[in-house]
Amino acid sequence: MTDLIIANILFNLPITLRKQLFVGEHAFCPICHSHLSGFLTALSSPMSWCPVCRSLQRHRLIWLFLERFHLITPEQPQTMLHFAPEPGLARRFAQMHHLRYVTADLFDPSVMMRFDITTIPFNDHTFDLILCSHVLEHVPNDHQAMRELYRVLKPGGIALILVPIQGEHTFEDATITDPLLRERYFGRFDHVRTYGIDVIQRLQQAGFSVKAVDVKDIAADQAEIERMGLPPREKIFVCCNEPG
Ligand SMILES: [Zn+2]
Repeated sequence: MTDLIIANILFNLPITLRKQLFVGEHAFCPICHSHLSGFLTALSSPMSWCPVCRSLQRHRLIWLFLERFHLITPEQPQTMLHFAPEPGLARRFAQMHHLRYVTADLFDPSVMMRFDITTIPFNDHTFDLILCSHVLEHVPNDHQAMRELYRVLKPGGIALILVPIQGEHTFEDATITDPLLRERYFGRFDHVRTYGIDVIQRLQQAGFSVKAVDVKDIAADQAEIERMGLPPREKIFVCCNEPG
């Protein structure tokens, strides 16, 4: 709790002041390009936050992937749909003038459009790029959500989908609705399942061709992984709507 109170105070300071307070050479955030004395950690959490843009490990991994694999191409217009937008990433995407950028969420009032991911209000083949990170584990009908993501992706487009993974097999039980029981069985009060690596088959059933990448495919070496505070186990499921 103390950690959270301190974090709240900190993140209410102006971004330029936070950048000055944490300037250093030990760490580097690839999203906000801050050279830092270190990332913020809390005793009660495995997360590490960038003190400037608030990014977490997986957000920095996503950004680095987009950058290193040249998936955002300033030389040509692109359309992008970003679910449950993470502030650090959203700020960067919003600054890209070639990007027709749409943020979406079911509940968050700060996004551009509020809708259910199982009924996406866009025509078929609208988006070049979709980012949907740590959303599907909250969605009861994730098969329908995946079909919708597939439908609105342009041929040749890419959806980056991330979910928390534990083990081989997905576990879900629609009768578990009590928040305390969900926390016990699914890891959080608002999760409706625990995904295994077999989430790949679910994504394939929706039509996607899927490649799983992780930090070893993206970062240059261990030193860079540590310097950028990247997650060792997180997987990005790179989903295309044509055989890849
Ligand atoms: Zn940052």
